[in-house]
Amino acid sequence: MTRIKSVRTRVWNWTGPTVPPQGHFCTNASDALWTKGDAMSSFRFHQWLTCEVETEDGTIGIGNAALAPSVVKKAIDEWYAPLVIGEDPFDYAYLWEKMYRTTHAWGRKGVGMTAISAIDIAIWDLMGKLVGKPVFKLLGGRTKEKIPVYYSKLYADSVEVMQKEAQEAQKNGYLAYKTRFGFGPKDGMPGMRENIKRVEALREVLGYDVDLMLECYMGWNLDYAKRMLPKLAKFEPRWLEEPVIADDVEGYKQLSAMNIIPISGGEHEYSVIGCKDLIEQKAVSVLQYDTNRVGGITAAQKINAIAEAHQIPVIPHAGQMHNYHLTMANTNCPISEYFPVFDVEVGNELFYYIFEGDPEAKDGYLQLDDNLPGLGISITDKHSQHFEIFE
Ligand code: MG
Repeated sequence: MTRIKSVRTRVWNWTGPTVPPQGHFCTNASDALWTKGDAMSSFRFHQWLTCEVETEDGTIGIGNAALAPSVVKKAIDEWYAPLVIGEDPFDYAYLWEKMYRTTHAWGRKGVGMTAISAIDIAIWDLMGKLVGKPVFKLLGGRTKEKIPVYYSKLYADSVEVMQKEAQEAQKNGYLAYKTRFGFGPKDGMPGMRENIKRVEALREVLGYDVDLMLECYMGWNLDYAKRMLPKLAKFEPRWLEEPVIADDVEGYKQLSAMNIIPISGGEHEYSVIGCKDLIEQKAVSVLQYDTNRVGGITAAQKINAIAEAHQIPVIPHAGQMHNYHLTMANTNCPISEYFPVFDVEVGNELFYYIFEGDPEAKDGYLQLDDNLPGLGISITDKHSQHFEIFE
């Protein structure tokens, strides 16, 4: 048996070039504030955290977190790392409970659970490497010949720019696309018309034989969403994502009960019990936990079982290997979100610059290697000139 020897955290601060953001490129929870200035600032993040868990034999498992990296780093360094050092990584379920219960008073949601997630993902990578198997083979194995992905970008812009992007994306044969709304309650009726105009324009280009998903990123409220649902129905969206803030579970329930468009969410929910509540309360038709936040792969697998029993599909938030492995190993995860490789914009592209090994989608699908141990990623120094790194 080899035991965990150390936990190394690094914050990667992107200092390289970024694409300047458009106004109204995506609604978000800060839109409700009266503050003027950069309403998109809370949406962008140009920092990432890597978490490397090493065993006595020198094997290193890699986890990561994109939420408040410098704060999560402190939480891991001071609280969570000492809880797992000296332990057997194969006791992963016990280690998860140890981290969860020891910090329950303050850590069960938000920063604490993000720290747990980063360590847990690293432990799964480590276990895969120690037994020489890809993580999905430890989770149930291959349930798909290959993983269908949906193109996740199409931030709100002018109609022409969005149509052009959709046309470009179509060349890669995706069967599903997700776009972001640019307007919310503050923008009144003219904003509603702008939102609808863009969905209509995308359907014009993409047709109706592919899925189109609509993302609000918590930038609407219940009243606004209730008024929008009937107007959007004719465009046959696959789902409407996070129409209201994550805490407004009652809002999700009411919108789901309208039964006009499937409501998705869970990207900002935490833990097994938090996701169980969303499912049992019929708040969402599609669950989109983020493995980086929800408690890592250990929690995600438990949630997958609950969701499957309720026949609620799980489509984890974001691309990234930990989500692909879960999707490969679960019949109830039909498709993966996929961020196309782009210049650094909002920040969710950064993992392409920190890690090597993420598969690129081809003809609307991606593939995992049956023989690559662990998650199949490594940390690269290819772009190190564009990062400030804090240990
Ligand atoms: Mg989302």
